[in-house]
Amino acid sequence: MRPYRHGRDIHAECSGVLGLVGLMGRAGGGQDRREWRNWAGTASATPARWCRPRSAGEIVAAVKEAAAAGLTVRALGSGHSFTPVAATDGVAVDLSLWTGIVAADTRTGLVTVRSGTTLRALNAALDGLGLAMANLGDIDAQTLAGALCTGTHGTGALLGGLATQVEALELILADGSVASCSGSARPDLFAAARIGLGALGVISTVTLRCVPSFTLTADERPMPVEQVLEQFDSLAAGNDHFEFYWFPYGRQALVKRNNRVPADGAPGPGAMPGWRRFWEFEVMENAGFGTLCRIGRAAPRLIPALNRFSSAALSRRSYTEVSHRVFVTPRRVRFTESEYAVPRESLVGVLRELRRSVPRLADPVMFPVEVRVAAADDIWLSTAYQRETAYIAIHQYSGLPYRAYFDLFESIVADVEGRPHWGKMHGIDAARLGRLYPRHQDFRRVRAEVDPEGRFASPYLIRVLGQP
Ligand SMILES: Cc1cc2nc3c(=O)[nH]c(=O)nc-3n(C[C@H](O)[C@H](O)[C@H](O)COP(=O)(O)OP(=O)(O)OC[C@H]3O[C@@H](n4cnc5c(N)ncnc54)[C@H](O)[C@@H]3O)c2cc1C
Repeated sequence: MRPYRHGRDIHAECSGVLGLVGLMGRAGGGQDRREWRNWAGTASATPARWCRPRSAGEIVAAVKEAAAAGLTVRALGSGHSFTPVAATDGVAVDLSLWTGIVAADTRTGLVTVRSGTTLRALNAALDGLGLAMANLGDIDAQTLAGALCTGTHGTGALLGGLATQVEALELILADGSVASCSGSARPDLFAAARIGLGALGVISTVTLRCVPSFTLTADERPMPVEQVLEQFDSLAAGNDHFEFYWFPYGRQALVKRNNRVPADGAPGPGAMPGWRRFWEFEVMENAGFGTLCRIGRAAPRLIPALNRFSSAALSRRSYTEVSHRVFVTPRRVRFTESEYAVPRESLVGVLRELRRSVPRLADPVMFPVEVRVAAADDIWLSTAYQRETAYIAIHQYSGLPYRAYFDLFESIVADVEGRPHWGKMHGIDAARLGRLYPRHQDFRRVRAEVDPEGRFASPYLIRVLGQP
């Protein structure tokens, strides 16, 4: 997929320096203040207008004014998608002022949240209420709605992605009307909009079903990758949250097992002291690994050796902390990423094929491969729709060539009906996605009903969903 650079240079009423500064700050910064750019630098755009609503009424007004001006609309999250899914040359609705918890019931765990709230802010607020999200991905910089819209997930054989934790949504539709949906109210809209790619409207609030806050014991240790593949099923089934990282030229994998500490059970190994957290996450995993990556970018022939060094340097650690501090780690080294969901039983075959193929690539690979799992769910555009799933995420350090690697990966997962993560790099179009996602056509039907004129369309959405 090519980097996105698309836009018209129109200044309009909604624009404002404040909005731009905030937007660039969250999306990762850039020289040109009129430009939107994503975290990875793989997509950019120049919206015709910028809006920064503070209320649902202002979101309605932004959508209506866009319609009157004949412009398309995209809601913006934190810019952490690698694809141009959020990019627009129409009206960019920056929701960074539309944040916070609207209502919380600690008895039922139902919490209604404004859509622009970041996961970081949400986790902290839930903590204060004695609640938590049952599962999370590995960073917390995303907005809640942005994370939901692309099907963001963590890991856990019995758990779904973030969207499975949604109980109800409120959206501003293309005609400016406000729609509420849930399993019982407008269920088709709900089945579509929980992972809606921002194609159905601007989500104003999300009602989550949270769980009482819990602690996790993290157990991270190196294991020979062959052994991990042999034991994959039992490792996935035997841990609440199982994942592993594998450096493509190394023989070791880093196996991560995060398990809930029962309220009445043994307390676990204890929290990681602050200095050690700083050393391990900031110094070793970010500053240290970032230095190796820069060496690799300057001298690519060293990459396989650097990669083997990183693999051999993997070490063991174990600690117990409140769940979100275990799920989430800082990611400061920039990279590009592609991730596919494959039927769980295909994982081992795909990984073996990837292991065989990567050494044949002309451009070596600096970053590790990450493997996670999820339970099947019923959300129409979920990568785990009606399928016990394994996720394989491949990465390359920013500035190093990645296209041949990603194409190779895509050709391997194509044989097992791999479904691409909506926020990560892939080259698949609507025709093929229609075969991979059994409810793709239903999604398009709902989209035609709620957005007949394509108010929320964009070039990326036309590629993956077809013409409005
Ligand atoms: C370092 C890093 C780590 C990551 N880790 C994980 C991981 O562990 N698991 C995983 O699955 N993914 C992961 N991702 C991918 C990331 O979670 C998704 O791409 C996510 O969508 C980004 O959220 P965002 O807030 O940045 O949204 P954006 O990328 O800004 O937008 C995503 C989509 O949401 C739409 N949108 C945003 N707000 C609204 C709204 N209010 N109403 C309607 N539509 C809206 C946008 O229009 C766009 O279509 C990672 C990405 C990075 C860069």
